[in-house]
Amino acid sequence: MTRSRGVIMPAPGAPLQVVELPRPTLTPGAATLRVTYSEVCGTDVHLYHGRLSGVPYPIIPGHVSVGVIDEWPDRSGTSRGGCSR
Ligand SMILES: [Zn+2]
Repeated sequence: MTRSRGVIMPAPGAPLQVVELPRPTLTPGAATLRVTYSEVCGTDVHLYHGRLSGVPYPIIPGHVSVGVIDEWPDRSGTSRGGCSR
């Protein structure tokens, strides 16, 4: 299985860790992105400090990312061609 690297927040207050993660199985129309930049937002800071309840750790912080499409085998259902949005 092909793997990729990612950053996880294992628990509130714990150091972030760079880990090997399994690549996701793509659903129809989905793509994988080789992330070049990712934002850590205020919500991530609250998660780090354990201020949000009901969150199942570990989590992958940074939900606003920029990158290059790595794999996009099924482009059906889209009219945007190579757009990464
Ligand atoms: Zn956010």
